[in-house]
Amino acid sequence: MKVGNGAGTPLRVIPLGGLGEIGLNLLVLEYQDAAIAVDCGVMFPDERMLGIDVAIPDITYVRSLGDRFQAIVLTHAHEDHIGALPYVLGERPVPVYGTRLTLGFVRERLRERGISAPLLSYDGTACRIGPFAVEPIAMTHSIPDSVGLAIRTPVGTIVHTGDFKLDQTPLDGRLPDLVRLGELGAEGVLLLLSDSTNVEHSGVTPSERSVGAELETIFRQATGRILVTTFSSHIHRMQQVIDLAVRFGRRVALVGRSLGVHAGIARDLGHLAIPDGTLVEAASARDLPRHRVVLITAGSQAEAASALVRIAMDAHKQVTLEPGDTVILSSRIIPGNERAISSLVNHLYRRGAVVHYGRGSPVHVSGHASQEELKLVMNLVRPRHFVPVHGEYRHLVRHVRLAAEVGIPTEACHLLEDGDVLELDASGSARRGERVTAGRVFVDGKGIGDVEDEVLRDRRHLSEDGLVLAVLAIAQQSGEIVAGPDLVSRGVVTEEANPEVLERAREAVLDALAGINPESRTDPAEVKEEVRKALRRYFKRFDRRPVILPFVMEM
Ligand SMILES: [Zn+2]
Repeated sequence: MKVGNGAGTPLRVIPLGGLGEIGLNLLVLEYQDAAIAVDCGVMFPDERMLGIDVAIPDITYVRSLGDRFQAIVLTHAHEDHIGALPYVLGERPVPVYGTRLTLGFVRERLRERGISAPLLSYDGTACRIGPFAVEPIAMTHSIPDSVGLAIRTPVGTIVHTGDFKLDQTPLDGRLPDLVRLGELGAEGVLLLLSDSTNVEHSGVTPSERSVGAELETIFRQATGRILVTTFSSHIHRMQQVIDLAVRFGRRVALVGRSLGVHAGIARDLGHLAIPDGTLVEAASARDLPRHRVVLITAGSQAEAASALVRIAMDAHKQVTLEPGDTVILSSRIIPGNERAISSLVNHLYRRGAVVHYGRGSPVHVSGHASQEELKLVMNLVRPRHFVPVHGEYRHLVRHVRLAAEVGIPTEACHLLEDGDVLELDASGSARRGERVTAGRVFVDGKGIGDVEDEVLRDRRHLSEDGLVLAVLAIAQQSGEIVAGPDLVSRGVVTEEANPEVLERAREAVLDALAGINPESRTDPAEVKEEVRKALRRYFKRFDRRPVILPFVMEM
């Protein structure tokens, strides 16, 4: 389409993250002198991003909008949708809109980082932000109080599904609002943006309740302790475990800080029911008969230093596993974590536990829609244009193919990637604008030091504090160090002037590794974490906080 066809200023749709990758969701909508963002998420590092804590979307473009950037509207409280808020709000504290539970989780996150911004609840009605009117639409997903959004703009209505599945028997009875989607479709929708995560799955994603049935079977058979791990934000999973615990006369201990925090917020806001007297501290759970205890733990992705990894290694202060205990990994494996989780399961079996995990056991269902649900949403909304979101490139391509199956013309489907610009005008025509800056920025923040450091971008961090690289190789079976640690630094100490600083750092690493238990020593992720901690401690003595990148190879 040509410019100047009389249709006036176009609406600009600009994904800055989440298209071409899982995570980092951030979509900018821009009209004349106003812009809003839908979601603002992070991506957790996989093994190709060694030593990096988290990635956030490059927000150069958001920054360039200046005070035209007016608000962030949220679909739900998963980290890949809210995790980058502290970084963006740290620069410009615009109002953030969300449902009550979403804002509850956001409030905690911002508090941890010492950041404040106005948090405004949708309260069921449309809110007006400049030329945009944003209306939440109830959706079901693996976190309660999730919504899709209908965003009315001067050129037409946009429907963004957020992350969703169409659970017809949701645990809290809050159904996905298919009626509203249909009404919007009947009124006319200019653009549909829809979740592509599970587009490769045929059929329909099972209801969350199906997991409860499977867990019940396991609870019935379990004779020792039951330990369940799931994402700390998966409130309905937690609810099902708690309900079963009550039914089978077990007390529940939440092991891991984030679980306690999320459960507390959800309980306060009425999304999690825990009968009085059900919860016990992990320390006192130790003294209860084993068949009277359920532990819910963090660490479903086998994150180094997480409670579950510690327990599996027999290195947890309060929880020890015994033969006959049951461990349920009630969560999906995020791609990139396969090896760490395999190793975790190995360790759990070594403790003598009965382990339920992975594809062989329906102890987890996805929170994302499969093909039939995706098609249903397209048929209800009947959009003029379609943009698949939330997925790697292959997911986006498959989602466009699915759209073709329900009769959305190919020329109405737009395969956008981060930084692409789609311009839509009131006549309903679409064209591509000039690309904007997009990408990932790596942040190494966790535990580096004070709050301020947490919001530093790695580039600034590197330039101010330097870098220490630690390379070592361990024997796969024994965990013995077979090479290194070799340390290389940049911008921290000049090696010629001060060779003994690095030599002593090397000794500090060796000392730390000698102190960990033999089983942890064979786990590269654990070793990496120890190396990182040791170097952090060591350099802190000189008031230095370099970015530390440990590389641990198995031989
Ligand atoms: Zn999600």
